[in-house]
Amino acid sequence: MPTSRIRYTLNDAVGDPKSWAYTWEIADDVTFGSTCDFCGQDQQRLTYEVTRGEESLCICQRCVGRYPVTGIWDGELLDQATTRATIHGLTARQKQKTCQDAIKKIQAAAPDAPLSEVVVYFERNLQLSPQCAAALFTAMTALPEPLDPRIFEIQTRSKAHQDEFGALDDQGRTVVWPALSPQQHRRLASLGYAPGVHTARRARPANPRSRQSQFPIPRMSALCEPAALDVAQETTAKTES
Ligand SMILES: [Zn+2]
Repeated sequence: MPTSRIRYTLNDAVGDPKSWAYTWEIADDVTFGSTCDFCGQDQQRLTYEVTRGEESLCICQRCVGRYPVTGIWDGELLDQATTRATIHGLTARQKQKTCQDAIKKIQAAAPDAPLSEVVVYFERNLQLSPQCAAALFTAMTALPEPLDPRIFEIQTRSKAHQDEFGALDDQGRTVVWPALSPQQHRRLASLGYAPGVHTARRARPANPRSRQSQFPIPRMSALCEPAALDVAQETTAKTES
């Protein structure tokens, strides 16, 4: 029932978002199979429980950011900024715990895999470098049940991390690729770093011709700006080195 057209519309039964209050319970669906009860968007990982009297719903991160759901902590009504900050902190803690549990599971399933550095790296950064991700996801194949690698955040923002990804062998890039966002895919593919199996459908952020034909938007500023920015950063990096 939820289509892209109604994705971000508040379900009629919800009424005033302020009439709902957080229970501060967060569900972390590592299969990305949850649906938001506010807007109907599916394929959600993190959802947040909200209640109104006897009713209870689970809402997605986007709705958390979009609607002023009431936050009450220790009987005290929080302002919106504090409510958001509290949710943000709880979310970070939940994500960290999920990743730590996943790493422990992988270590148990692949006791011989060299993962001690990965553990140290994750504890320090709460994200994985491309090299750590490759080591972890290679070991992950030993798990009896597959785990969605998208639960981990992979660092690709800096030139150093982009090049670290590019320096992985094709096997390494192939295991890390499914954990990356579409935006990360476009960036790395534009650098020629997409693994072999994905190079056929390489995206071109600097010249998004296929997107333009789908959505006839006069100015593609949203897409062109980050690309221009990256070029500028690279030039700076080059002159510095
Ligand atoms: Zn939602």
